[in-house]
Amino acid sequence: MKYYFSSIKDYLINLIFPKICVGCQREGTYLCEDCFSLVEVNPFCYCLCEKPQRIIDRGKCKKCQNKFLSGLFSATSWEQKILKKAIHRFKYAPYIKELSLPLAYLIILHFQMIEKSIPADSLLMPVPLSPRKKRERGFNQAEELAKVLAKAWKVPLVSDKLVKIKNTTPQVELKKEERIKNIKGVFSLKNGTDLRGKKIFLIDDVYTTGVTLEECARVLKQAGAKEVWGITIAREVKF
Ligand SMILES: [Zn+2]
Ligand SMILES: [Zn+2]
Repeated sequence: MKYYFSSIKDYLINLIFPKICVGCQREGTYLCEDCFSLVEVNPFCYCLCEKPQRIIDRGKCKKCQNKFLSGLFSATSWEQKILKKAIHRFKYAPYIKELSLPLAYLIILHFQMIEKSIPADSLLMPVPLSPRKKRERGFNQAEELAKVLAKAWKVPLVSDKLVKIKNTTPQVELKKEERIKNIKGVFSLKNGTDLRGKKIFLIDDVYTTGVTLEECARVLKQAGAKEVWGITIAREVKF
């Protein structure tokens, strides 16, 4: 009965605000199957560094050994028109929160392609937004992705421990050195968070210079985390 009512509600909402595909403007879904299938999923693992090299046994290259991040999984390359559009509509007004589902699915496909599974005793954590930013958008896009992944992988999601304590200038407006300065000390863990021996997978939307994920990883490692890996939908690089 409940299902029946909710589907009538969905039907009415759809009549007033029809779902339009961000790729081809066809009605019915926010990202239709045809457009989704045009997004190329990355079948390999690459290191964290700026000119990424392929890593056979996952992890990172020699040059990156001193980084806090253990490695990175990026499902796609940013240089794809439909993908850019979808991420843009997910992150910028008017927001389409529901795009979290197909976008998270790209990550799931990537993990299937590289034949990697997330150990059940690990934790998923979204990169946090400042409370002000979260209020403005109404949701944290990384958290929405993490919710889908946690359900699919049956791994616990911890979204209230790592917090952003300062508002920052959006990283896209800054150069790399400025980004590092801008992000330093903005993340913090809630008091009493014990991460000793934990393997953590940090979720974010796009990996650009990596300074945000690296700063989160620093904070998590300080609290005892054994490994901190990054997971993003896209990476601003051509593989
Ligand atoms: Zn389409
Ligand atoms: Zn590297």
